[in-house]
Amino acid sequence: MSRFWSPMVGQLTPYTPGEQLKLPGLIKLNTNENPYGPSPAVLDAVRAAATDELRLYPDPEALALRQAIAGHHGVAIDQVFVGNGSDEVLGHVFHALLSHGQPVRFPDISYSFYPVYCQLYGITPAPVPVNERFEIDVADYAGPCGGVILPNPNAPTGIALPLADIERLLALQPDRVVVIDEAYVDFGAQSAVSLLATHPNLLVVQTVSKSRGLAGLRVGYALGAPELILGLERVKSSFNSYPVDRVAMAGATASFGDAAYLDQSRQRVMQSRGWLARELAALGFEVLPSSANFVFARHPAHDAAALMQGLRERAILVRHFRLPRIEQFLRISVGTDEHCAALIDALNDLLAGAPPAP
Ligand code: PMP
Repeated sequence: MSRFWSPMVGQLTPYTPGEQLKLPGLIKLNTNENPYGPSPAVLDAVRAAATDELRLYPDPEALALRQAIAGHHGVAIDQVFVGNGSDEVLGHVFHALLSHGQPVRFPDISYSFYPVYCQLYGITPAPVPVNERFEIDVADYAGPCGGVILPNPNAPTGIALPLADIERLLALQPDRVVVIDEAYVDFGAQSAVSLLATHPNLLVVQTVSKSRGLAGLRVGYALGAPELILGLERVKSSFNSYPVDRVAMAGATASFGDAAYLDQSRQRVMQSRGWLARELAALGFEVLPSSANFVFARHPAHDAAALMQGLRERAILVRHFRLPRIEQFLRISVGTDEHCAALIDALNDLLAGAPPAP
């Protein structure tokens, strides 16, 4: 606390991102990055953007990128909003579309940034418990509220909701925005983009960070009715006119031009996820059914925090949340087959009580 801070700053509980340690040989399975990285076409575009033109501001309307996104999803350009990672887009969403003086509903086990935005923008969070199998029942989201936000597939569980459930949810809240955060949708869930034409209260948020292997570029976007996009634009232009820089704009735009690479990358991740889930189950873990690029698993006889620490001593990072209901789970990002095999070997040793190699 400092006397120079605005008083609310001392009240904040900021989001804690996963660690970005730099150790030789480290296997990073803690922040759901894509082990295969971006398409070569993206790297070419990024290099080509590194010119003297960087002295110029980027296009504040990000037209080329929005056009590429609109083309990919079959929507109009005025249905696309872009920002500096989907985290920034989500921040604007809470500010512009969910702040109505009524509580905002989201699953109790969900992306832990949502309550942080609520606090920042003075919104009352209304967490809705998922059931004992960690599933969302959309019937629990009826009634007066400021809006609804949920990831599909959910994070950190990885469990996907079918499109029919999203449709039911939209019908339950016709006068409030329902935000579907599709950060992981390309790994096997059904996107709600096809419902945009018939549902003016739907906002879909996606990112290039996961399936497109571009977490370092910081580009995310929202798709919705022009009215919703206009609301987001008004907040964005009251905050930062140029959230997407020239290099990021070039790289992200190129990513939408290489559909074959995206497809290959997500297929590889989904295949490795199947193997990883089977191996974890064989070690005695309970593994939730994942449609994302991570699995969420707990062992009936081994403490999650101790396992995380043991893996860390073997230079493997996974994510552990010290939160009610999920403190015995580990969230493990799907790496290459080599990473997944190293993780299973290390867990084998840990479960057998073997000390780490010197
Ligand atoms: N939504 C969910 C559910 C996430 O897990 C993440 C990644 N932490 C994000 C949004 C934000 O991703 P980015 O800002 O990289 O687009």
